[in-house]
Amino acid sequence: MKKNLLFALGLCLSMGSFADNHTVCSPDGKLMLTVNNEGGHPSYTVSYDGVEVFRPSALGLTADYGDFTQGMKLVKVTEKRIQVSYDMTRTKRAHVSYGANQLTLDMVNAKGFPLQMTFNVANNDVAYRYTLLRPKSETPRCAVIRSEASGFNLPDDARTFLTPQIQPMTGWERTKPSYEEEYRPDARLTDKSAFGVGYTFPCLYRIPNGKADTWLLISETGTEDYPGCRLSEYEPGKGYHVAYPQPGENNGVGSEYAAVPLPGSTPWRTITVGHSLQPIVETTVSYDVVEPRYEAKAEYKPGRYTWSWILWMDESCNYDDQVRFIDVTSKMGYEYILVDALWDTQIGYDRIEQLSRYAQSKGVGLMLWYNSNGAANDAPQGPRNVMNNPISRKRDMAWMQRIGVKAIKVDFFGGDKQQTLQLYRDILSDANDYGLQVIFHGCTLPRGWERMYPNFVASEAALASENVYFTDYHAKREAFELTMYPFTRNAVAAFDWGGVLMNRYMSKDNKSRHQRFTGDIFEMATAITNQTSVNCVALTPDALATLPAFEIEWLRQLPTAWSDLRFLGGYPGKYFAVARQTTAGKWYAAAINADPKPLTLTLDLPMFAGKVVKVYADGPKKKGSSWLTPGMKQQKVGRNGRLMVTVQPNGGVIVNE
Ligand code: CA
Repeated sequence: MKKNLLFALGLCLSMGSFADNHTVCSPDGKLMLTVNNEGGHPSYTVSYDGVEVFRPSALGLTADYGDFTQGMKLVKVTEKRIQVSYDMTRTKRAHVSYGANQLTLDMVNAKGFPLQMTFNVANNDVAYRYTLLRPKSETPRCAVIRSEASGFNLPDDARTFLTPQIQPMTGWERTKPSYEEEYRPDARLTDKSAFGVGYTFPCLYRIPNGKADTWLLISETGTEDYPGCRLSEYEPGKGYHVAYPQPGENNGVGSEYAAVPLPGSTPWRTITVGHSLQPIVETTVSYDVVEPRYEAKAEYKPGRYTWSWILWMDESCNYDDQVRFIDVTSKMGYEYILVDALWDTQIGYDRIEQLSRYAQSKGVGLMLWYNSNGAANDAPQGPRNVMNNPISRKRDMAWMQRIGVKAIKVDFFGGDKQQTLQLYRDILSDANDYGLQVIFHGCTLPRGWERMYPNFVASEAALASENVYFTDYHAKREAFELTMYPFTRNAVAAFDWGGVLMNRYMSKDNKSRHQRFTGDIFEMATAITNQTSVNCVALTPDALATLPAFEIEWLRQLPTAWSDLRFLGGYPGKYFAVARQTTAGKWYAAAINADPKPLTLTLDLPMFAGKVVKVYADGPKKKGSSWLTPGMKQQKVGRNGRLMVTVQPNGGVIVNE
């Protein structure tokens, strides 16, 4: 492979071609992508501020009617400046200005069939995709893509922060894969993944480089009618490549390949790069390159919900317990209550109508749980066989609209095949017709969906709070998980962690089973560090009586609708600090610590400069106590906007006016 001269000189013109190379740079000139088609094998390299990010990495795909990885000929190069701004709700930023330089390469393969490659390079984000055009011969008019070469070939010394894919039809009731595996920090590229079947997006990397490491996040977005992809195992010399679902997903039914009409495009593969983690935490690339797919048919309100199941489990899905939760929800001024699985048999459709009337009389809206399937796995909970069929789905949705239900949570999907991704879209689109917001659990990573589908709230697609309930092991790992996700899972999509957990013990009586290891302020801070527009507060009617008044007061006003954010510091799996601004203009800063040592941070908070703020913090454990000591004090922030705080291990800090 010929050395890229521009790269060697450390120069970056906004666009340029040299010999076989076609280079496109970000508007600020730091991020540079070069495509090379030497020998008819298309490949690309990426560098950031002179640091090599990808060595030559393969491009192209193989379809049923032709190979587009070799024998490729470049016929046209188009360069364009993109500058768009857009508004969105329900994600990290309300107003986004997206500027990128776009390079489009029109190529033909050995048989003369056309393929277009489009690369958008913004200051910290690359997004690229392929478009199979309709051939001049007019046929074929449809295609099956069997594989993508799309490679990511990192420098040998890169460190990985990855979560593995798992074999299909494994785990509880054969419900996996469901993006519920553990992230492993700071591993080597050559380390094998836990299950030998690659990794799920997003994938985080650190390229060591003296004082200023380069950070890199790989993901994909805009998936609507295409399989959900993942990264393969690492192969020295080649790196990773985009891989399709495993044939055994969805109980072996349906193709793992991608069927596309011609013309038809793949989703965008995204690469976010910077010298710190800031661009990764703040990126909006998942939304920048997609468009809303339909208009919102109702006003979808952000808010807070309570959820009996997370601590009181299956037996709590009965009428009387739900009334108790509605009462506490109403007392807190929260908007929603999630009635989880088994309501169809343990409460019944008729009494749900009665429950919905009662909830509405208290100013609370119901969210109802549904099984997504069907035939994809053995998850037994009802309602089953409703959401997988448009006839029964629309019947139930019309009923929900009539009785005032506000949202659905749909659980236990069958994997990442194209037919399953279509099911997500179809549920979202139908739900919008009946004014319902949607949360997914036991599911895939959302790929640009908050912007594409205006009634989509968030997905689980993580080892979420239920695991803190299930095992002492995960309860002890909670701080690790919640300082990992801001840089990975939650960086690319809204995240239903499923509960600011205020019980001290993971049990209904709040005395038995294992304890929660995090502090109260840590839990409250996760409402700021995690981003979702409809957030769960796992408050139980009994536990409310045990909480200090200042905590209840804070929980009552807990915000969920954000307009902006600022990364304040952190390291994946160790700590995270962020400031977010609400759509009403109020700022909140929060920090959480997973390290075994207390952490002293100087937070840069210009929004609070010279102001008196409330600082909520978990103090050290008192002698003989198993819990950190939560407290709140008023403090004046200096004119320079700097505030020094100490975050205890498993503890949190919140700063707001
Ligand atoms: Ca789950």
